[in-house]
Amino acid sequence: MLVIEGAYVATLDPARREFVGHVVVEGNRIVAVGPGSAPALEGARVVDGSGCLVTPGFVNTHQHLYQWVTRGLAVDDTLFGWLTTLYPVWARIDEESVYVAAQGALAQLALTGCTTVSDHHYVFPRGGGDLLAAEITAAAEVGLRFHPARGSMDRGQKDGGLPPDSVVEDRDEILAATSAAIDRWHDPAPDSMLRIAVAPCSPFSVTGELMRESAVLARRKGVRLHTHLAETTDETAWCQETHGCTPLEYAASLGWTGPDVWFAHGIHFDDTEIKQLGATRTGVAHCPSSNARLGAGIARTADLRAAGVPVGLGVDGAASNEAGSLVEELRHALLLARASNGPQSLTVRDTLEMATLGGAHLLGRSEDLGSLEPGKLADLALWNLNTFPHAGIPDPIAALVLSTPPPLALLLVNGNPVVQDNTLTTVDPELLATQVGAKQQALTQELS
Ligand code: ZN
Repeated sequence: MLVIEGAYVATLDPARREFVGHVVVEGNRIVAVGPGSAPALEGARVVDGSGCLVTPGFVNTHQHLYQWVTRGLAVDDTLFGWLTTLYPVWARIDEESVYVAAQGALAQLALTGCTTVSDHHYVFPRGGGDLLAAEITAAAEVGLRFHPARGSMDRGQKDGGLPPDSVVEDRDEILAATSAAIDRWHDPAPDSMLRIAVAPCSPFSVTGELMRESAVLARRKGVRLHTHLAETTDETAWCQETHGCTPLEYAASLGWTGPDVWFAHGIHFDDTEIKQLGATRTGVAHCPSSNARLGAGIARTADLRAAGVPVGLGVDGAASNEAGSLVEELRHALLLARASNGPQSLTVRDTLEMATLGGAHLLGRSEDLGSLEPGKLADLALWNLNTFPHAGIPDPIAALVLSTPPPLALLLVNGNPVVQDNTLTTVDPELLATQVGAKQQALTQELS
């Protein structure tokens, strides 16, 4: 049993209670949360949380872990230009590079408050090995709750798509491999550490047939659907030219709306699309840093939320967000929303809600994750605000969202400490840094 005492608790419960109090964890569940001290519990490990803020663990709803070893390329390019530069590098990834990249990206996520990660992996070069198994092993070793989405691309350059033909797969092979991945890995248990989603990459790299059949497969298997949508104006123009409709109309025509679907980015949805997303409870993973890095635009988070669209946060792939830091996404989400839509568009508490409950909702885990309540899984972050940059900010949630990212006193995932005193307990970041550097060099050198 573990007891956190004297911390400022942001419960995110239905009443959104906040107080100075305690959180008690037994096994992988929270058993008590309340103001003041916990009753004396014999043999419990007591953590002094004074001056700290405890929040639910953050949920990262969109990421491409393999990109951790391909950061810092095409740094001043647009999405399509950036993709064209990176596809040949990505065509060289294999089991070992994906494993190292996943460990690096996941370690950074853990150190920035993230307890559950959805990864969207869509590059499967021929002969690259079992890439899904490599990242699943990495996630188990780092200790995070993992929702890998089996991505795919079947529209290469010879079919008018953007990716080179060497990184696209055959449609039947994709569907068979995705189905096999669900059978092998997907665990539907309430305390699951591993769930699979079905995730064709994006409309401009995937055929309509693959989108449609992927939706059928996911629903037959009872898993969720994910893809990129409405990320750039180029994509909107491409959809109009190729399909004569908006990105959401195109996705909807293929069965891609509903509470089991979440889209990455959703920057360029118009009023009609936002209404339709809300009516169908289709979710959006907002990735503010990546969107700004690529100059893609700013998602209309306030309008999406007002329309009843579930919205979570994502760091996106590290090749378009070198920081890969989830806590920084809260600040960027707030700043970009206010810069584009005024001071009332997003509060600090709205932002915390998107990072926790919002993300849990997108992944279908809101019954067990996303708030600090008795019976929920013990995924939480204890932020140390006893530091120079945070001293003198009276509201702990404002300190978390608006100031520099605070150090983590403790990160629990499924009741296990993954970070203590701002140090990972599971993997060695210095060793990882060396391995990541070597892999990055090998992948880019082979190009010349
Ligand atoms: Zn992405």
